[in-house]
Amino acid sequence: MEVLVHPLLLGPNLPPTFYRGAGRIADFRSDRFGVVPRDRPEDWIASTVSRFGERSTGLTELPEGGYLREAVDAAPEQWLGPDAAEWSSQLPRPSLLVPLVKFLDAGQRLPVHVHPDDTFARSRLGAAQGKTEAWVIMEAPADALVYLGWRQEMPVDRLADLVERQDVTAMLAAMNAVTVRAGDVVLVPAGTPHAIGQGIFLTEVQQAADLSILLEWQPFLADPEQAFGGATPDVALDCVDVAPLGADVVDELVVRGVLERSSGAGRSSLMPDAADGFFALLLRDGGTLAAGYSTMVVLGGRGTLAGEDWTRDVERGMTLAVPYAAGPVRVSGEVSVAAFTPGARRTAVAGA
Ligand SMILES: [Zn+2]
Repeated sequence: MEVLVHPLLLGPNLPPTFYRGAGRIADFRSDRFGVVPRDRPEDWIASTVSRFGERSTGLTELPEGGYLREAVDAAPEQWLGPDAAEWSSQLPRPSLLVPLVKFLDAGQRLPVHVHPDDTFARSRLGAAQGKTEAWVIMEAPADALVYLGWRQEMPVDRLADLVERQDVTAMLAAMNAVTVRAGDVVLVPAGTPHAIGQGIFLTEVQQAADLSILLEWQPFLADPEQAFGGATPDVALDCVDVAPLGADVVDELVVRGVLERSSGAGRSSLMPDAADGFFALLLRDGGTLAAGYSTMVVLGGRGTLAGEDWTRDVERGMTLAVPYAAGPVRVSGEVSVAAFTPGARRTAVAGA
């Protein structure tokens, strides 16, 4: 297999889904790769998982052909570094270490939903891993809201009743409503119920899994059977954290103004500590990224990425998969990039 020593530019990948976008992905991406559909709300970047229950929809295809998933699994050390086997020992395939990054354009409020954690996903759903996720807010209207966790303990039978009756007004009223602005980061630990308000455009980073339990399915799905990812309602609702998410915890999960910062020269993640082990976020507007896998989003401006024997001009809206074998990446020009890497704990081991 050809040795990969440079980043790969990834084109838009917008699988159909059940809610609508509002053209923000097309505006951010521009049409350099062809026309991006304005009504699709999700662009899956460096995806090594397919949509739930589907064979290949959602998987990222490489510019040279073939899927990123197969490329990583065929050469995990080139992509993820020398410790790939050790880090992925809990997973059926190393490519599941690649965080799933998405642009998400909420043309309408997203339904209240939750993702199981690793233990629940493996023991109850027979899945490879659960899903902790985080949102980097790119654009938000004034008073944009996200919903995160319960304000007070949610009794299990009350939750079942709200879900059964689809009493969404009561569900939302029972959740923490958090105002967000462009530049904020919100971490959503697995098990935490959440929803994203209308008008928000964000970059989402997640464990590589497509596993959602929709507590709210009307009017999004015609058939509530689809809402629980194949699980029965009582099994599905079991993955919901019913403990209250206090204001102190919300303050730890929501980090303000992250995009105005830079990681500096180090590898310290700009994510809240609870993201360690799942994924990390590094920001650069210059300087060098140590060797290691990252899914890179060019947030603004234009500039150049350079390695030992490669260079790549980049500009706002581009996305790249950067393999470990590309080596350290120098960032120059009037450009800012976000690098999403496998968990900080893992990259720290491989770090400079
Ligand atoms: Zn979610």
